[in-house]
Amino acid sequence: MSEYGCKVCRVLDEYGMERYEERLLEQWQADSSQRKGYRQLAEWFNTLMLRREMDRAGISTLGDEAESKYERLQSDEAIAEEVATELANAGIPIEQLRDDFVSYGVIRTHLKECLESDVDLPSGEWEQDAIEISRNHAAKKIEEAVRSIRNKGRLTAGGDVNVSVDIELECENCHSRVPAERAIRREYVCQCDD
Ligand SMILES: [Zn+2]
Ligand SMILES: [Zn+2]
Repeated sequence: MSEYGCKVCRVLDEYGMERYEERLLEQWQADSSQRKGYRQLAEWFNTLMLRREMDRAGISTLGDEAESKYERLQSDEAIAEEVATELANAGIPIEQLRDDFVSYGVIRTHLKECLESDVDLPSGEWEQDAIEISRNHAAKKIEEAVRSIRNKGRLTAGGDVNVSVDIELECENCHSRVPAERAIRREYVCQCDD
């Protein structure tokens, strides 16, 4: 994906969705009452991808069919698998599609870096952004390094190699380790001082 600025750039191109770029930007820059956060934008974008595939496969997208299917794809594994199988049977390349769904971090990278647009963030969100920016930075650097090692023939793989960076927080006292995102969402790393 090196020729693209980010995954959103690649998906917009490969899925022929360039015309939705403006919508993405508009929703992000709207007045605060209408403005969507990165998470909502990622959800909107992924649902749009799914709806287009459903239309193409001739599955009804009336009402909130696409939204509800997308939601179920994000829920428990059993439910997600059921929906995935149903969509695969209808001829949708669902595994590819799920791989191509974008995260809110990538949406952020796309808006801020690829489009170089700037909007003041609601206060209190810079911390999550700082984590996300660092994570993307690290992933990019590691990807470069891995590519170079592969080019030297010192690392092999059957296909493309993806790099993922997981950030974990650890309590020095009890050594509990939790993904940073989960810890921040639930508001504790551990409860060893209870
Ligand atoms: Zn981009
Ligand atoms: Zn602890």
